Amino acid sequence: MSRVYNFSAGPAIMPEEVLRTAQKEMMDYHGCGQSVMEMSHRSGVFDEIIREAEKDFRELVGVPDNYKVLFLQGGGTLQFAQIPMNLMKNRVADYIITGNWANKACQEAAIYGKANKIASSEDRNYTYIPDCSDLPVDEDADYVYICHNNTIYGTQFKKLPDTKGKLLVADVSSDFLSEPIDVEKYGLFFGGVQKNVGPAGMVITVVRDDLVTGDVLPGTPTLMKYKTQADKGSLYNTPNCWCIYICGLVFRWLKAQGGLEAMHKKNEKKAALLYDYLDSSRLFKGTVRREDRSLMNVPFVTGDKDMDAKFVAEAAENGLVNLKGHRTVGGMRASLYNAMPYAGVEKLVTFMEDFEKANS
Ligand SMILES: *Cc1c(COP(=O)(O)O)cnc(C)c1O
Repeated sequence: MSRVYNFSAGPAIMPEEVLRTAQKEMMDYHGCGQSVMEMSHRSGVFDEIIREAEKDFRELVGVPDNYKVLFLQGGGTLQFAQIPMNLMKNRVADYIITGNWANKACQEAAIYGKANKIASSEDRNYTYIPDCSDLPVDEDADYVYICHNNTIYGTQFKKLPDTKGKLLVADVSSDFLSEPIDVEKYGLFFGGVQKNVGPAGMVITVVRDDLVTGDVLPGTPTLMKYKTQADKGSLYNTPNCWCIYICGLVFRWLKAQGGLEAMHKKNEKKAALLYDYLDSSRLFKGTVRREDRSLMNVPFVTGDKDMDAKFVAEAAENGLVNLKGHRTVGGMRASLYNAMPYAGVEKLVTFMEDFEKANS
């Protein structure tokens, strides 16, 4: 068996310990003679899996009792619609546009009401986080929306915007569980799990109790009301059982790693190794303003398309895979999620140094 270092932005690298546990439990989960993907979601065995997963998640994140934790399908993208359907009572919401994902969320909200773009970093291809200290927040806005970590452009909010008393809603898909999060600052946040947590096919939404009401926009399907799933413990219909199980294993792994504070330190150390090298390199350059750099997604370029392509190809031959950047940025992107070990980043930086010597 030969495993690579996978720098994909998502679906992404998983902790090896988790994969091994899943392998061990595949044919016979805890003596019940079947795998988790075969069992009824109404069974006692699965009930324990989902309860444990939620309990561990709450403990890990420090979710207060007045917030619901929902395991939902449809990925991050369906949240772009589910949020306005449930929260846009005045049919007005403010969006901070820091890249593709925020833009898509804003476009979706515009189906339901007035979606204002109150700040944007489009003018410099989203290479920075705009100043959010004095935003033109709409008086009638039901919420202010951000994408906390911009997977494609490699920027991250280091300070939350001043929403002037309005509800803050955040997409935390690509830095989910990578660092502590102050839950009470948000009305709602959600993360598609395939970036930093588990396999593709699920999103975890954390939403304050008082926002989970039956009072939604007319025409909202039953399954799209947060209340429907909140009342049924995310088991209104058949959930993604397998994904819930694997995420549960990841939550346990994160607890064993020392929790989110400890993960944050490890993530800072990994990112510093790569950014320090980028700052010293004469061949490679980071694309993001220094103070807004993401700890999770690190885009970089050589400035020469052919050289970029050569680098990506040679890196792959050396077991460093999925380093090609998003087409809107070009160059390379290294995603350094929780499951990426320090040794993987060391191997990448050593390879970059060697490549730089050989190509200058
Ligand atoms: C990947 C991603 C999404 C979209 O997730 P899907 O699960 O594919 O719908 C949304 N927001 C962010 C920040 C992402 O990185």
